[in-house]
Amino acid sequence: MTDQTKTESPINHAPSSGFAKEIEQEPGGEGIMKCIQCGMCTASCMVASMTERYRPRKLIQKILLGKREEVLTSELPWLCMTCKLCEERCQEDVDLSQIFTAVREIAAREGYVPPVFQNTIEKVLEDGWMLNDAYTDFEEDDRSDLGLDPDLGWNNEFTKKIKKRYFKGGDAK
Ligand code: SF4
Ligand code: SF4
Repeated sequence: MTDQTKTESPINHAPSSGFAKEIEQEPGGEGIMKCIQCGMCTASCMVASMTERYRPRKLIQKILLGKREEVLTSELPWLCMTCKLCEERCQEDVDLSQIFTAVREIAAREGYVPPVFQNTIEKVLEDGWMLNDAYTDFEEDDRSDLGLDPDLGWNNEFTKKIKKRYFKGGDAK
């Protein structure tokens, strides 16, 4: 019987689809072919423990099988919290969070950002807050009680910087 340690594992175990090769070329996606579909990532994942819809092993499998459109149009790759717990436990050192980041990069380039994330960034660009009504009258009162400035106008400066740094047409001076 051979001693199957991490260092002795072969590099590529999986069938490689065109989509898997595309992910492999994307920064962060390099290790996808090492996956042996053992399922340890799903067993370790907190998001997977909250919803049966999210199964990191299955997502990797779909990439390996070339289900490009299904993966890119799905909101599931966006649910990874990049906690890296799965990566700590993966015997093949597959960087799942990086792979899902690579998937999201391609999806974003092709216009497949899920509406909930799109709405969030639009809200941030509008007034600097991630949620509607995130800053309420109550918080304003609380800040006054604590002797803090209730005017969060500085958030507009933050918004301008974000637009200038990451978006075309930013009007930051
Ligand atoms: S733990 Fe690693 S090898 Fe196992 S299914 Fe997940 S990514 Fe693949
Ligand atoms: S990095 Fe993503 S897939 Fe891995 S355990 Fe954390 S949330 Fe789950």
